[in-house]
Amino acid sequence: MSNRQTDTDVILIGAGIMSATLGTLLKELVPNWKITVFEKLASPGEESSNEWNNAGTGHAALCELNYTSVKPDGSIDISKAISVNEQFQVSMQFWSYLVKSNLIRNPQDFIMPLPHMSMVQGKEDVAFLKKRFETMSKNPLFQGMEFSDDPKKLMEWIPLIMKDRTSDEPIAATKMDSGTDVNFGALTRMLFEHLKSKNVGIHYKHSVDDIKRTSDGAWELKIRNLSSGSVERHTAKFVFIGGGGGSLPLLQKTGIPEGKHIGGFPISGLFMVCNNPEVVAQHHAKVYGKAKVGAPPMSVPHLDTRFIDNQKSLLFGPFAGFSPKFLKTGSMFDLLGSVKPNNVLTMLAAGAKNLSLTKYLIQQVMLSKEKRMEELREFIPNAKIEDWDMLVAGQRVQVIKDTEAGGKGTLQFGTEVVTAGDGSIAALLGASPGASTAVSVMLEVIEKCFPQHAKAWEPKIREMIPSYGAPLMKNPGLIREIHTSTERTLGLNRGLHSANVM
Ligand SMILES: Cc1cc2nc3c(=O)[nH]c(=O)nc-3n(C[C@H](O)[C@H](O)[C@H](O)COP(=O)(O)OP(=O)(O)OC[C@H]3O[C@@H](n4cnc5c(N)ncnc54)[C@H](O)[C@@H]3O)c2cc1C
Repeated sequence: MSNRQTDTDVILIGAGIMSATLGTLLKELVPNWKITVFEKLASPGEESSNEWNNAGTGHAALCELNYTSVKPDGSIDISKAISVNEQFQVSMQFWSYLVKSNLIRNPQDFIMPLPHMSMVQGKEDVAFLKKRFETMSKNPLFQGMEFSDDPKKLMEWIPLIMKDRTSDEPIAATKMDSGTDVNFGALTRMLFEHLKSKNVGIHYKHSVDDIKRTSDGAWELKIRNLSSGSVERHTAKFVFIGGGGGSLPLLQKTGIPEGKHIGGFPISGLFMVCNNPEVVAQHHAKVYGKAKVGAPPMSVPHLDTRFIDNQKSLLFGPFAGFSPKFLKTGSMFDLLGSVKPNNVLTMLAAGAKNLSLTKYLIQQVMLSKEKRMEELREFIPNAKIEDWDMLVAGQRVQVIKDTEAGGKGTLQFGTEVVTAGDGSIAALLGASPGASTAVSVMLEVIEKCFPQHAKAWEPKIREMIPSYGAPLMKNPGLIREIHTSTERTLGLNRGLHSANVM
């Protein structure tokens, strides 16, 4: 059965953090627009945005070594770290605005203060970390960063990692107390609750199967109601494809030229979760190490305290792996189905270029639990196998496209906003730095798709995000003001949440 349904101003596909953020921003900017959401699962935030499917790091470049690189002259390039940090400050300001305006409550249910640390071993890496610290700590965005290669100090900071360490290899760490653990699943659910209260039509168990242009330039979506089996058709002037890993196949269905010659490379993930409360209590930080040679940037190992369901947990990983699915709940035919005449050469070129990565990912899938424990023991020397369980994380679909710098079929590790020339449809592809940057990425969608409203909307955007459009790095006064105000509003009082390490 197929029936045509009412028009709407905006359709958001997918109920993850990206649609939640875009819907909330648009509701603040134009409260009278009719917004409708279609999600194929039974509730919001069940795929990558779910708290158990991602690492919950508020990515502000306070600990991730892959956001800095060594330049040919030996100095440290921190430009990527600066832009990731600036993006996170935008998210913090928007979340703070939502709490201050009572649009969401109880920020402690989605964000907690937690030191962010980078840790390295070996003489060369210790020298690199020190140099990196010297460069970063001079920048106002990273003020407060501490460095230590003193085992006594490190024992205070990371007792679980330092105790029982027999190796006499040099070890060093940096620490930023202003880091956070973010429960993106809880935040997504809060935002969808808020959107529901603002009369946004949210339809779960509704799968978007096709997207077509109508003769008047709008978009018609063919949607399957998974409960009744009926097919519905909904039209909208603007569509956001926020399907996470499922965005690429939907973008391909639109037929827009901007969506051609793009492929997707799925990377699966696994975490180890500690089931021993005594071990969990001994750690209070996110500690990021260095990626192994040949490993993709998203498989940098880290040992993370997490706050989920009002409980402290301890996760290690993620271990990357290969699966042809584009979503955790996806199909084994996703990858094959995404190969189209317009992207086959791009995909083949990427396949040829990334043979070693594919081999690495397949090897990772095959690792036994004992082999994974060996990697964990680089962090916790006496980790016991019975204290740790395996947990399947979310899927990431990395973008493959032809670029000037990398040539045909280049694998991208960031996020990409793809929009139609007339701004009537936008899709978000890729997954890094991910949920942490949802606000600035959704502002990018708004800027690209609604340039005609830019002037009228700017004052409201500035009210929500005081630093909007002005690089924070150049304004240390504003950085201090924003830090103080967001930390107060979001309840990130570091004294109150001090470590309870033994
Ligand atoms: C292992 C791992 C670790 C990560 N760690 C971090 C981290 O520490 N910090 C961070 O900031 N980010 C992290 N990320 C990235 C982050 O999780 C994602 O960038 C973010 O959650 C993506 O949000 P989304 O809304 O685009 O997608 P999702 O949350 O995946 O939501 C997409 C939704 O669309 C629905 N959907 C798909 N296709 C259709 C369709 N055809 N019809 C209807 N609905 C559809 C899906 O069911 C899903 O609910 C991590 C990701 C992974 C996988």
